[in-house]
Amino acid sequence: MPATRRLIRVTGTVQGVGFRPFVYRHATALELTGSVRNDSAGVFIDVEGEPARISELARLLVEDPPPLASVGSVTFEDAEPLGRPGTFRIVASDDAGSTRTVPVSVDTATCADCLAEVDDPADRRYRYPFTNCTNCGPRYTIVLRVPYDRPSTTMADFVMCDACRREYDDPQDRRFHAQPNACAECGPRLTWRAPDGAARADGDEALRIAVELLRSGGVVAVKGIGGYHLAVDATDVAAVRELRRRKARDDKPFAVMVRDLADARQRCDLDERAVAALVDPRRPIVLAPRRAGAAVAEGVAPGLPDLGLFFPYSPLHHLLLAGVDRPLVMTSANSSDEPIAHDDDDAVARLGPIVDGLLTHDRRIHIRCDDSVARAAGGHLQLLRRSRGYAPEPLPLPFPTAAPVLAVGGELKSTVSVVRGDEVVTSHHIGDLEHLATWQSFRQAVEHLPALYGVTPEIVAHDLHPEYLSTKFAFDLDLPSVAVQHHHAHVASCMVEHGRREPVVALAFDGLGYGPDGTLWGGEVLVADYAGYERAAHLRPVQMPGGAAAIREPWRMALVWARAAGRSDPDQLGLAPAGLDATAVHAVADLVDRGGGRPTTSVGRLFDAVAVLLGCRKHVTYEAQAAIELEALARAVDRDDARSFAEDVPFADGVLDPAPLVDRIVEERARGIPAAVLAAAFHESIGLATARVAHDLARARDIDAVVLTGGVFQNVRLSEIVVRELDRSGLTVLTHERVPPNDGGLSIGQAAIAAFGAGR
Ligand code: ZN
Ligand code: ZN
Ligand code: FE
Repeated sequence: MPATRRLIRVTGTVQGVGFRPFVYRHATALELTGSVRNDSAGVFIDVEGEPARISELARLLVEDPPPLASVGSVTFEDAEPLGRPGTFRIVASDDAGSTRTVPVSVDTATCADCLAEVDDPADRRYRYPFTNCTNCGPRYTIVLRVPYDRPSTTMADFVMCDACRREYDDPQDRRFHAQPNACAECGPRLTWRAPDGAARADGDEALRIAVELLRSGGVVAVKGIGGYHLAVDATDVAAVRELRRRKARDDKPFAVMVRDLADARQRCDLDERAVAALVDPRRPIVLAPRRAGAAVAEGVAPGLPDLGLFFPYSPLHHLLLAGVDRPLVMTSANSSDEPIAHDDDDAVARLGPIVDGLLTHDRRIHIRCDDSVARAAGGHLQLLRRSRGYAPEPLPLPFPTAAPVLAVGGELKSTVSVVRGDEVVTSHHIGDLEHLATWQSFRQAVEHLPALYGVTPEIVAHDLHPEYLSTKFAFDLDLPSVAVQHHHAHVASCMVEHGRREPVVALAFDGLGYGPDGTLWGGEVLVADYAGYERAAHLRPVQMPGGAAAIREPWRMALVWARAAGRSDPDQLGLAPAGLDATAVHAVADLVDRGGGRPTTSVGRLFDAVAVLLGCRKHVTYEAQAAIELEALARAVDRDDARSFAEDVPFADGVLDPAPLVDRIVEERARGIPAAVLAAAFHESIGLATARVAHDLARARDIDAVVLTGGVFQNVRLSEIVVRELDRSGLTVLTHERVPPNDGGLSIGQAAIAAFGAGR
């Protein structure tokens, strides 16, 4: 049979993931000739041989690519056969800076092959904590610049030994061009440091000291892939209490790292989706219901029904867990929503005072990257924080774009995005910008991300809120800017992940977002596409007395909603927080009566209010803490048994008024109906009432899809009620999966809206 020749182009995340050796191995086995190389668009294959064998190679590219590759497209072109004799070759990249536009891949958990080596006393990588290969290891967190090769990473500090170099140069080897390739001979080393930073031991001895300390209740800082964790034995009540005391801040839950599935199952009830997420090489923290009697200290997640579990994702984690032989609290080493500590000097300065020692190493972390957080909701997995393992993987935009855009996101849970070609690339989770250290991290991300992707932004997109630091930053850039309304951005972010182009009806419910009328929105029913939106309906506005104080002290919102429901005597509501007398409550009541406080339509604040009225906490240490307790309270009642007072949420003239519902809840509570029953009824009522509004609007406008977005839809119970109702009526419901429903998704929506506008 005459030979044919085909030119094959593969796009997507195909560099730094072992793609060329993969092609080489198969082409050689199929006795094809030609070459494979990386270029600016991805991977280019020039192959010659029997047509059936070329087809087989093509099939493998499409159906069975290397584990870390994410193939965007494979295109073919016939060419004149050259009749070249010889073999198949890997050709060095045609550099000239053109590989700049190729995506950087994500940090990936240690693969089974590498783990087997780490566990094998006969292997030269036995117990080596930085073992990796082309199928696993750090990527985004160590990249300084592109093209992605060793000198452009923090591994440039280490010169490969002969054995490592041979692996690196051998196309048949699993470590061919694995940029972070290393061994104990030539690679990064562990160091044990005292709290004052003094080096006390290294290598296996450092690990042994850390294990000993953890086993005896100590607090240890552990340098990982994207930053430092603070670790303690998760089953040791005193150690966990001590960690909370030393961190001295709030009740935010700690994540727990477990060794394996058996261990995870002892702590939490896991369904299929949760198991799949735990074992996924992206290794998110997975929230799942805590099992009754599970051996985990109560202080790990105070007052919460869920635990956040995750699996080890570096050889160091595996060795540490094997040594301690207990689950470990592994919480980001930071305070509040400051960025995770990642720089060694900074770690000693910030963490030294609160730890008994630091288990650190000499591979620099260039981009700090917190752990991602996911939970199972409504039949799929939903990311609540999209960071390590997911960033900076691009998402396709469902329309062609004309201009490179930088989107700077919101204020809390900050991320930034760039539009490059027809994709949007989003940074790691940066945090809450009000902290100086977070602000510096934001500045770094805004520089680094466009540079990494070879994008020179021509447009900057930002939130409408004039006081967000990100907005002010956008105004200071010398670029045309596009202000995007907060909830419009939430809606667009959800449309992007579903590839949706046509208009949608959207329920955008969250804490707060700036409305064009200067009030604080947060209970919005929008008709929207990328070109614009219409505020078709919203929650009844009420005052928010004391601004941010109303977020920290949800009893203020309870007072406001009770008054909206006609219950004007604050003393009857039992709102006076512990340690405060009734005077404070009366002062706020007076403020409300005088019309003080900005108007808000926030559904998040409504949930806060009802939580307090049903006896949940009156003060919170993190946003939505009371609302989360309310959802937890409702879990005692099966959804099928929940009562509904949806008729008490009247809808007229585009305004949905929950005041009669609040009134009824207070009344039934006073009659002695259990709080759990009323919490369930509240979820049911708000879910049914809002689903009905969305449904009627969709039918009236002839729109077939409804988006659920905003931080309130992190509430699984509410989401499931709304999804069930809309599903029943035949509408398509678009919920968040890969993009967080909270403000972590804003930059994606902003980027899409600005890019769409620029293309018209
Ligand atoms: Zn590996
Ligand atoms: Zn080596
Ligand atoms: Fe929001």
